[in-house]
Amino acid sequence: MECHGVGLHSGAPVNLRILPAPAGTGIVFRRTDLDGFEIEAIGRNVARVSYATSLQKKGVLISTTEHLLSAFIGLGLDNAIVELDNLELPILDGSAKPFVDMVLAAGLRQQRRRRTYLRILKEVEVRDGNKFIAAYPASGYAVVYNINFPQPIGAQSFEIDLSRDLYRKELAAARTFGFLREADAMRNMGLIRGATEENVIVIQDDGVKNGPLRYSDEFVRHKVLDLIGDLALLGKQVIGRIVADRAGHAMHTALVSRLLRDHSLWEETSDVLDDAEEEPALRLARLTPSEA
Ligand SMILES: [Zn+2]
Repeated sequence: MECHGVGLHSGAPVNLRILPAPAGTGIVFRRTDLDGFEIEAIGRNVARVSYATSLQKKGVLISTTEHLLSAFIGLGLDNAIVELDNLELPILDGSAKPFVDMVLAAGLRQQRRRRTYLRILKEVEVRDGNKFIAAYPASGYAVVYNINFPQPIGAQSFEIDLSRDLYRKELAAARTFGFLREADAMRNMGLIRGATEENVIVIQDDGVKNGPLRYSDEFVRHKVLDLIGDLALLGKQVIGRIVADRAGHAMHTALVSRLLRDHSLWEETSDVLDDAEEEPALRLARLTPSEA
């Protein structure tokens, strides 16, 4: 499975390949342009985070990991090697759908080893001004997100129960977005050099420049997609209820760090979720080597 594109922020061309991996590997990025240097997709490797989530290890960067990692969580894909030959993942259409399609085209294989979950045991809340994010104990994986942007987005809320296999239909296709009036300032900061009207929803004061939207509330759905991708850096599927209010990558990864620092807040469990609606075939899954 391969794809080619440009990085949203760097504008750099990049080839990306997803390879199967044995149980227990997790998600590992490999820079083929740097002698195969590997960076594990775990909280310890999170680098500076502003407009996108980056991983860093020994000075080597991998940027904008959130859409691919979100797709992997949404599909129940636990173990894979992701090869790329530049520093930023391709933005493709701005959503997680191209990654979902790539993985589904190759197929998923169930592995013998039971999946380990990270189950939230105690509530944990992180606040920064009017930004808020929290994790609470729950029986499945649910996310609630509230945003409040200037018009024409305004206030939107979205809630999803991910244990019900709703990711592909309700979240995967939601695209990233940006305000046209902020574009020059962002370019001056070295950001969005790969942005086009094909990979970002462009918002003007009087509405969306490059419609139509894929969902009427596509903006808040994309924030949920991003949050799921950032929480993937916990290294395990989550059992808990996540609530976010006006948060962003910095708040998402702050929650990851807070959880990883304090092991009294969660436990590892391989108990299968008590949820008949979960697709068993995806519960313990990896890519089949023969089809990759
Ligand atoms: Zn995003």
